[in-house]
Amino acid sequence: MNNNSVNKLSSYVEALRPIIYIPTFDFEAFDDILVQISDGIEIYEFNDGLGYVNFKTKQSETAYSLEEFLTLFLSGDKQTAFLVLKDIHHHLNNPKVQSLLKSIALKNIYDDDFYVTIFIVSTKLIIPVELEKLITIFETPYPTQSEILEIINEFAKEMQISIRENLVDELSLSLKGFSEFEITQILNLAYQNSGAIEKKDVSLILDEKKQIIKKSGLIEILSFKENIEDIGGLDNLKGWLINKSIIFNRLDEAIKYGVETPKGMMIVGMPGCGKSLSAKATANLFNVPLLRLDVGKLLGKYIGESEENMRRAINVAEAISPCVLWIDEIEKAFSGIGKSTSHEVTTRLFGYFLTWMQEKTSSVFVVATSNDISYLPPEFLRRGRFDEIFFVDFPNDEERRSILELHLKKRGKWHKDIDTIKLLKETKGYSGADIEAVIKDTIEKAFIKNAEILKTEDILSEIKETKPMSVSLKDKIDGLKEALKKIDVKRASS
Ligand code: ADP
Repeated sequence: MNNNSVNKLSSYVEALRPIIYIPTFDFEAFDDILVQISDGIEIYEFNDGLGYVNFKTKQSETAYSLEEFLTLFLSGDKQTAFLVLKDIHHHLNNPKVQSLLKSIALKNIYDDDFYVTIFIVSTKLIIPVELEKLITIFETPYPTQSEILEIINEFAKEMQISIRENLVDELSLSLKGFSEFEITQILNLAYQNSGAIEKKDVSLILDEKKQIIKKSGLIEILSFKENIEDIGGLDNLKGWLINKSIIFNRLDEAIKYGVETPKGMMIVGMPGCGKSLSAKATANLFNVPLLRLDVGKLLGKYIGESEENMRRAINVAEAISPCVLWIDEIEKAFSGIGKSTSHEVTTRLFGYFLTWMQEKTSSVFVVATSNDISYLPPEFLRRGRFDEIFFVDFPNDEERRSILELHLKKRGKWHKDIDTIKLLKETKGYSGADIEAVIKDTIEKAFIKNAEILKTEDILSEIKETKPMSVSLKDKIDGLKEALKKIDVKRASS
């Protein structure tokens, strides 16, 4: 833990923030910080397993329930104290506990002789609405790369081993996104395996990262092969991405030069027109893993659960970084808007996300995609969050031609006698996905007929049998067009 965060916590206490919530599972590291800032103030601990314990020895004291423990400080003579409550998150929905916490908190603020600060240290962040205004969240930041270097060197000294200097550098990079506690655990594991820290241990770290993703249950790593050449048209978007990839692939150098870390882009627009395809191509172009966040899974049943999920998902992405974090159908989270409860949850949920986007310096490049922006709150589309917002429309003539050719080539069926120009008039209003379906079906029929080559007429007659999305989803698409008129977006196509 660096001095900055110790000072920050200390300043919260001085500013009479009555309840400080520390989401972490490294309880020991937090104990150390607390001792550093306590300045002689007595610390009292209650933990979910043992109840009231001696903070120093962790031996059980009198058997109190959490309610009894809190009451001690309200009615007793202990006017100056730090209360550490560990892993008590599931008591936080108990109205009695809420009321006691609230009373202590208010007394701390209003009573000049009463100086009792509450620290809730927990692996889970659950904030009841009733206490929301009294709670300050203290995030223990992940160690920076230079702090990680220090941890590794410290570890090597303690174990009396030497680690090659360029391996230390490599390790410190791949251990980014882990807490100090996790870093020490991984180093220990590597050391236990072979009595040394070696090159092969870098893959151990990657395995640990995969574990983190699996455990989160919110994010999946996608395997895909689509790259930027598989996108027909959308040349504004492609050109922009190529520039960002140059920065992303030489990030350290770019930052030193004064360039800002790319944050990400939002792609809104018509269904089946290459939004998902672009997300995949981005990861390929940037040469990093693609993580997909399932917005539906974020929304939890319990108070505070959704925010906690969002926080965890972001932590996972940071642990895996550099990576592309694809938030698919981001509007799903807002579609419940209007119903008061879900509105509150999603506002807070995405408040956290937007702040993170705004302040983000990590190499997580966000690609948010949406078919329906009418639900998205305006702050989403404000500058400073995403580097750019692109609008993907139905492909124009030129683009349809290139999409037709792409999909024919992909299936080995392209030849110069196919007159794509002749197909353009008939495919007005077709999405990329519609065109792909036409090509697939034409090829299937040609196979059944044992046709030697594909003819323009085969494709034409298939087109005549198809109903494109712009027709079947007309109302939805008209609505989207209306909503788009109100915002400032860049067209993905030139
Ligand atoms: P969405 O915009 O709804 O995310 P997708 O990107 O998933 O649509 O498109 C579905 C499929 O349609 C893609 O996998 C691709 O095969 C085809 N497609 C859509 N747009 C394009 C395009 N611009 N170029 C090439 N293929 C496209």
